[in-house]
Amino acid sequence: MHYSVWILGDQLLNPHPALIAAEKAVGRENIIVVLVESHALMKRLPYHAKKLTLVASAMRHYALELEALGYRVDYRQAPNFISALRDHIKVYHPDSLLMMASCNLAGRLFQHSLLKKLSVAIVILENSQFLCSHFNPFPDYRPGDVVRQETFYRKMRTHFNALMTPSGEPVGGQWNFDKKNRQSLPADMRVPEILHFEPDTITRGVMEEINRGRIGFGDGQGFDLAVSREQAKQAAEDFFENRLPYFGTYEDAMRTGESILFHSRLSPYLNIGLLEPLELVKEVEKRYLAGQVEINNAEGFIRQVIGWREYMHWQYLHMAPNSIEMNYWEFNRSLPAFFWDGETEMNCLRIVIKRIIGEAYAHHIERLMLLTNFCLLTELNPHEVYNWFSAVFIDAYAWVMVPNVYGMGLYADGGQIGSKPYLASANYINKMSDYCRDCRFDHNRRVGPDACPFNTLYWAFLIKHEQKLRQNHRMARSLYHLNNMDEGEKQSVANQSQAFLMKFL
Ligand code: FAD
Ligand code: SF4
Repeated sequence: MHYSVWILGDQLLNPHPALIAAEKAVGRENIIVVLVESHALMKRLPYHAKKLTLVASAMRHYALELEALGYRVDYRQAPNFISALRDHIKVYHPDSLLMMASCNLAGRLFQHSLLKKLSVAIVILENSQFLCSHFNPFPDYRPGDVVRQETFYRKMRTHFNALMTPSGEPVGGQWNFDKKNRQSLPADMRVPEILHFEPDTITRGVMEEINRGRIGFGDGQGFDLAVSREQAKQAAEDFFENRLPYFGTYEDAMRTGESILFHSRLSPYLNIGLLEPLELVKEVEKRYLAGQVEINNAEGFIRQVIGWREYMHWQYLHMAPNSIEMNYWEFNRSLPAFFWDGETEMNCLRIVIKRIIGEAYAHHIERLMLLTNFCLLTELNPHEVYNWFSAVFIDAYAWVMVPNVYGMGLYADGGQIGSKPYLASANYINKMSDYCRDCRFDHNRRVGPDACPFNTLYWAFLIKHEQKLRQNHRMARSLYHLNNMDEGEKQSVANQSQAFLMKFL
């Protein structure tokens, strides 16, 4: 008997559950591991060249690591998955093909379709990449139930005993310490440089292939990411040592010339299996208990991982399979051209989009309070926005994009994820960044030639969608300010917003 084990490019786990299962059944010497780089997948969208480089290089490094451990590996570059798997079976004639379920629902459907498409027994193991794979916090959930992140987070923290006292209370007597967090960055605050990884021969080879094939969006040069578990662990250590101590304090801050600030930039590794969520959570807890990190920073990070990341994945699995058709507002405008080149007079968007073109990364607040905020205010089609996010970010995968873009960012799900839409004017952007200082627009104005478009669009949105927004009691405070605006000003705002939309969209 011999088995083949197909390992997907975002499942570079060590050890991999399908390998453990196969080894128990037939022994390591009777296993052949298949890894496939599918050209069809790589070209499905104009993915960022750095993302393509990361995944292909990490897969190639992973294959070598498996070989060093004594596994035989069949590494294929193929037009698509099905042709690669058919060719593999023709050559190796395995008795069974084992795999772990994909994180993405479309991937799972494809895996199940293999039962009919391939002439071999198929075994699909449950996905184990999330903490919720091992513990379902809401086993009685029924479609239509509303589960908010805070409730979810408390259950997760309790179950995984993260920052909890022996009597089951949150350490420090509170579930969060946000009063200390989300501060703007003092002008003289030095931001530590992130650890860079010099591309080795394998990575340079991938970069050349991508460059030669002219696939991908953005700047493929200057690749500095980790491409193996060993390096990803070093990247995590760099974060724990140098940025975690200020993670929560400045998690909402934005600054010209700095993309990562005190964030971890660990999502690219978590999302392909080079790092696992619980190991990060436990390390941060350890550092808090050792007195190396303050509670607001430790709890802030742990909440992102076992609160938000797990919550989003759990929501994704419970969202309707046709979630990509969600369009609560019924918006249908196309993406403005400047989303692809960053050429806009709006300083905040120019800086962030140009940075994404370079690095395939922006931190959470830039994704939420600048990018999707702008997309919502300008009434863009959710699916177009989703495709753009999927293409340009280094860490984008369906399971995380669907709830974040349709749900959190655009409220296109009508409130399954967020209790209210995230909408903001220039007031917030100016408070949390230095972007407005050098902008040709005036962040204090909402009408007139110098008015900041975020202001005009924000107020026009409230005016236009007042009825729908009034159904949500959490919008009452924002809408209250509308009462202070006279009809003449409302009309000017609406006209200016319309002119902006006609010009750019
Ligand atoms: P940190 O700020 O250091 O946070 C630590 C970790 O927490 C992250 O690495 C991530 O794994 C997790 N996390 C925090 N918030 C979320 C969240 N809302 N959803 C899932 N995980 C979270 N995350 C992705 O991994 N891929 C995406 O494609 C993605 N697209 C997003 C699009 C929009 C519109 C929004 C609002 C958020 C998106 N996020 C996405 C979530 C979040 O912005 C990123 O996980 C985070 O910015 C990654 O950078 P970091 O590793 O430095 O995160
Ligand atoms: Fe962005 Fe408006 Fe500030 Fe300019 S003034 S940086 S457009 S928020």
